[in-house]
Amino acid sequence: MTNIRENLAEIRRRIAAAAQRVKRDPAEVSLVAVSKKKPLADIMAAHGAGQNIFGENYLQDAGEKIKQCREKLCWHFIGHVQSNKARQVAEFFDIVETVDRLKLAKALNKYAGRFQRSLDVLVQVNIGRELQKSGVLPENAPELLDSINTLPNLRLKGIMVMPPYCVNPEESRPYFRKARELTTDLKDRGFFADLKVIELSMGMSGDFEVAIEEGATLVRVGTALFGARI
Ligand SMILES: *Cc1c(COP(=O)(O)O)cnc(C)c1O
Repeated sequence: MTNIRENLAEIRRRIAAAAQRVKRDPAEVSLVAVSKKKPLADIMAAHGAGQNIFGENYLQDAGEKIKQCREKLCWHFIGHVQSNKARQVAEFFDIVETVDRLKLAKALNKYAGRFQRSLDVLVQVNIGRELQKSGVLPENAPELLDSINTLPNLRLKGIMVMPPYCVNPEESRPYFRKARELTTDLKDRGFFADLKVIELSMGMSGDFEVAIEEGATLVRVGTALFGARI
């Protein structure tokens, strides 16, 4: 049996230790509990242990859980969004971490407007330049960011990356470092000027500590918290 409460305590301890290793304040790092394919009961167990931010990938499954959930939680969409699903994403989620093209940004902006809300977004960057992965290539990020900044119902908060799959977490480090350098570069070009914190979403169960050492502000952890997914 997965003990979610114990796992959560252990992950929080590891987050704090990783932050302290590089002299960061652990409070700068937020845990996104990735609850895809897990029942609402598991989400409630984590919430009961103090967790409020959850990440979901599959729209239908997520929508049902969010509708049933009576608590006001913070929901991050971290899956690939088809533009024709933008309406549901804008309805259910607080932040979309995977905006990777203008067409999607425009669709989210339109529906956010229709729901009379503003929607936080991160731009997903294909930091490993992998053919099969979503995400804008680093050199095309400025153009996309510029366009997003013209959309009145979206609030650009930072970037999200998912490096190539690695067995050894140290292999992710160069990609995490590149992602942090990209945010610095974008900042130097005048992006994110209005933000106190530029969100940098990176690191999963296997490598979140390395991501924190390299500057992550959001880590997305599923398996280590909720157990393996079937
Ligand atoms: C599933 C998923 C995660 C969590 O992965 P774990 O290895 O289970 O921690 C994080 N980010 C994204 C984008 C995912 O799809």
